[in-house]
Amino acid sequence: MLNLRVAHAYDRNRYHPPEVSGKIATAICEPVEKAFRDPHILEVGVGTGRIGMPVVARGFRFTGVDTDPEMMELFRAKYSGVSRKVKLLEADAQALPFPDAVFHGVVAVHVFHLVPDIAAAVDEALRVTRPGGYLFEGWDVAAPSSPELVIQDHWCQAVEQYGYFVTRGAHRAALDASAARLSECGLDFREATIARWEMRHTPLEVVEALSEGLFSFTRNVPTDVRFRAARDVKAWVSEVFPDLDTPIKTEWAFHMRSTRLPAHR
Ligand code: SAM
Repeated sequence: MLNLRVAHAYDRNRYHPPEVSGKIATAICEPVEKAFRDPHILEVGVGTGRIGMPVVARGFRFTGVDTDPEMMELFRAKYSGVSRKVKLLEADAQALPFPDAVFHGVVAVHVFHLVPDIAAAVDEALRVTRPGGYLFEGWDVAAPSSPELVIQDHWCQAVEQYGYFVTRGAHRAALDASAARLSECGLDFREATIARWEMRHTPLEVVEALSEGLFSFTRNVPTDVRFRAARDVKAWVSEVFPDLDTPIKTEWAFHMRSTRLPAHR
């Protein structure tokens, strides 16, 4: 479980610009709204509501589940006073506490790579989706040569010097695993780029995000090692970037895989 401080740091560091949030919400809401009247959306691994809040703001019925109540506490603070059509529950994506075929759209963004049994999470998402409904899997990708990623790579190397091995690419592997499960279930899907944008963080913010353990690849590294590696990397960063407080640019894209269930099962 994360703590509230880390939940705030996640929310601050991983936010989408408003126009990007809007495009993601449209990509979720439009097809579902075309197919169903008064649709009900479920998001698994809802976190701090980065994806869910813009959907809630459009007046949709919305249920979110997450294994971490601290992350959901931030989301609760955002929608309180905005909508009464929201429910948040502590639950695992691999065993959802809902009957079959109750949601018109199920959303999973940056969560399946954290789930031990991805096929079970996909099966659960499909089980609770109504015939003709949608499963949306979304993910952010930074341009490979971004300075932010180069700093992260240096941090990973520093961590290895303390005897910890950092696995990157878990997210891509999870997407492949969920695609394989969808194909086994006989489902077709399509993938599209929903938005592109630039983000600016200072080199210091990038290093701090690593110390704070905001990324999935940092989560098995003990706190003291995360901080020690960050201190080592800061020395290298100071040589490469003339001013640690001047923002550096990262180009991002948000991609979405949409799977529509057949109208009759
Ligand atoms: N979907 C949100 C977003 O894109 O901003 C949050 C993504 S965050 C990287 C992953 C979230 O998934 C965390 O809030 C974490 O607690 C949650 N999570 C991890 N394992 C989970 C599981 N087995 N079932 C449900 N939620 C889980």
